Amino acid sequence: MNCNLCQETKYKTYLNPYHWRKTKQIFSVVECENCGHLYTKDAPSEDAIGAYYDSETYISHTDSNKSLFDKVYNGIKKYMLAKKYAWITRFVPRGTLIDYGAGSGAFVKYVADRGRKAIGLEIAEAGRKTAKELYGIELYEPNELKNMDDESVSVFTMWHVLEHIYQPEKLIKEIHRVLDKNGVLVVAVPNPLSWDAKHYKEDWAAWDVPIHISHFKPSVIKNFMEKNEFHCIQTKGMPFDAFYISLVSNENKYGHKKPITGFINGLKSQLHGIKTGNYSSQVYIFRKN
Ligand SMILES: [Zn+2]
Repeated sequence: MNCNLCQETKYKTYLNPYHWRKTKQIFSVVECENCGHLYTKDAPSEDAIGAYYDSETYISHTDSNKSLFDKVYNGIKKYMLAKKYAWITRFVPRGTLIDYGAGSGAFVKYVADRGRKAIGLEIAEAGRKTAKELYGIELYEPNELKNMDDESVSVFTMWHVLEHIYQPEKLIKEIHRVLDKNGVLVVAVPNPLSWDAKHYKEDWAAWDVPIHISHFKPSVIKNFMEKNEFHCIQTKGMPFDAFYISLVSNENKYGHKKPITGFINGLKSQLHGIKTGNYSSQVYIFRKN
């Protein structure tokens, strides 16, 4: 695989994380010698990648309200829905929203319940099925995007999705086409320059190879988006991701979540984010030029 942002073939090995979800197979993350992008070298093809995902990814947590972990998880999920909605409303108070990679549709449901038109696109059939069963909403396949009219959408969101995309430029161009004048694109991705990424190195859970194809450094994603006629109007940190990623990374490193260390490292990462702007997971708000 060449650099999936600029097609350059030359690269340097950056680090060798592993598929912690199942196989423990090692994959190289390399740095493009042209644009500086970090990408997963020799990731499986789009047809073969399904086997590397967890089968439980789309099982809803809402009806398993049993353990403390589930309760905390659900509380955070609810809080984050409101937070995401508030971020968007501030920049674009009305108009249609598309959530790309909608999962089981929780955010689409949240937006629609507030009287705003929301369309969810989801590649996984299991996600679309859960959305229908759980919320009674219809999600569509991502290739429906090409049937949408030019400048028909006000907000486009991708919460932890762009890092999975094989050809980001192709998608960004389509998004640019459907967004209206002054339309906003919100992208949340893990940050390989965060404190937790540097602390956990190969064990950092958010490398998530090989299902994460791209590992966006802030400067690289901004340059890439500028090349595609977007400009960044704000960045934010996802407040809970540093804690979650530290817990999972501990499990990778020590075979145990080590909740206290996980919490302390999450806090260290969060404070580092506030100080430097490099959060564990970064949210970028881009406006169409
Ligand atoms: Zn490149």
